[in-house]
Amino acid sequence: MSALGDLPPVGVCLERIGLRAHKALGQNFLFDLNLTGKIARAANTGPGDVVIEVGPGPGGLTRALLQSGANVIAVDKDTRFAPILDEINTASDGALRVLYEDALRTDMATLGNAEQPIKIVSNLPYNVGTQLLIGWLKADPVFWTSLTLMFQREVAERVVAAPGSAAYGRLAVLCAAIAEAHLLFDVPAAAFTPPPKVNSAVVHLTPKPHKARFDDLAALEHVTRAAFGQRRKMLRASLKPCAKAAGLDVARWLAEAEIEPTDRPETLAPDRFFALARIWRNP
Ligand code: SAM
Repeated sequence: MSALGDLPPVGVCLERIGLRAHKALGQNFLFDLNLTGKIARAANTGPGDVVIEVGPGPGGLTRALLQSGANVIAVDKDTRFAPILDEINTASDGALRVLYEDALRTDMATLGNAEQPIKIVSNLPYNVGTQLLIGWLKADPVFWTSLTLMFQREVAERVVAAPGSAAYGRLAVLCAAIAEAHLLFDVPAAAFTPPPKVNSAVVHLTPKPHKARFDDLAALEHVTRAAFGQRRKMLRASLKPCAKAAGLDVARWLAEAEIEPTDRPETLAPDRFFALARIWRNP
């Protein structure tokens, strides 16, 4: 792996091809290889792992993942990075494969195989990060063994939020249905080139054991959208239209799910939303 260590600094590679960051593609790059190494260590990647990286860009994080001994399949919409990523692939003896396409359209479940479960690691483009995460949570079967993801700090807080906190909402409930989620560390805006307006943070998610999952994410999305769409309202009011459309009596629905009609969504533990979704699906 020493050839990877001999590559020029990431910033120099970008300068060589005269590449300027595209704001619309959420391009904020990490040049500091100590930091990308820290993210790769947090993802616990190593020989035998297949890692999917969304948005390798100029490959700072990609290098760290490859240096851990993993094989990396990277997906980036922007083909301008090809000369840099080709060089990284050569330096890693072909351990990198790059797909130049929209990650929202990539069928990632088919990229690995049963013997080599997938770890997803990414400094996510901020504009599609949440959508990608929800797609991975909805995957059936769950094909990943961990997600190590950099989000804007505010989104990272929403991923790991506990009931009663200001950040608690749909995203935390959807994550809790499938995974254990932890916030690992903050990354200041100044660590990126160009620096974004806000700080970032890395979160780590691992799938819960099968029995502990609530995997009807479509029903859960429906119910949490109704509940958190009006988060200041009591559930008997916010869920009434949803109940009516499903032919449910809202008072009976809440009672069956062991929820007080006067409860508000931000105080409800994820398992109460699972109960609501289960009854909504099969009244
Ligand atoms: N991994 C690099 C790093 O840490 O320096 C770059 C991260 S940058 C925040 C996000 C990357 O995602 C960019 O390279 C951008 O081109 C890519 N990207 C943006 N939208 C994408 C999409 N829909 N599908 C695939 N890649 C995308």
